[in-house]
Amino acid sequence: MVQEQESYRRGMVVFAHADDAEWGCSGTVAKWCAEGWEVVYVVCTDGSKGSSDPEMSGDKLARIRELEQRNAGSVLGLRDVVFLGYEDSMLEPTLALRRDVAREIRRYAPDVVICGSPFRRLSHSGYLGHPDHMAAGEAAMSAVFPSARDRLTFPELLEEGLETHHVREVWVTDHETPDKFVDVSGYVDVAIKALEQHVTQVNGKDVGTHWRQSRLQYGEKVGFEYAEAFKRFHLG
Ligand SMILES: [Zn+2]
Repeated sequence: MVQEQESYRRGMVVFAHADDAEWGCSGTVAKWCAEGWEVVYVVCTDGSKGSSDPEMSGDKLARIRELEQRNAGSVLGLRDVVFLGYEDSMLEPTLALRRDVAREIRRYAPDVVICGSPFRRLSHSGYLGHPDHMAAGEAAMSAVFPSARDRLTFPELLEEGLETHHVREVWVTDHETPDKFVDVSGYVDVAIKALEQHVTQVNGKDVGTHWRQSRLQYGEKVGFEYAEAFKRFHLG
């Protein structure tokens, strides 16, 4: 299984909002890119609700957040960032969203897809969880299996010239019982620099300290200085 993993060279991260991936897995993404992987982000929403500034409009915010996400992608060395453009805070795990994610999986043919959990976590007393995150997680997993893999599901994708694709592994972020740990010790600075590109969301806060703390906690568990943790599904 380790040998198979060493042959992987393409990753995709599917998430709801610009900045979710930087919070969830930017150390791993920075490492992949440094090792020569082609990594693509798929951002499901337009990010148009993420501001409490009364002077800010949704349209303007969406444009700024797209640019911020592209800047973060440049810092990390992503191959591409795809924006699906669904309205922020209204995301549902519809067949249309599933098809849109499956289209990008077929187009970019990732070996590994990283996504969030499709479930609401109730063990965390300080955070309810964002409904968009669950919708994006559900759509991503259902796009991997069966939609990207099967010829007869969404035949319009074949008509677009997009052949089926079998994703090898799915890694779920922020899981209560992670079993896949990535040593990101050498990628802390670049990962935090990517996070800091989301100026409208960072809002002057010391996000680096917060980012480091979570990775230090996982690192301590597994003997790395800094680690990111995932629930890993090997799809054979
Ligand atoms: Zn989010």
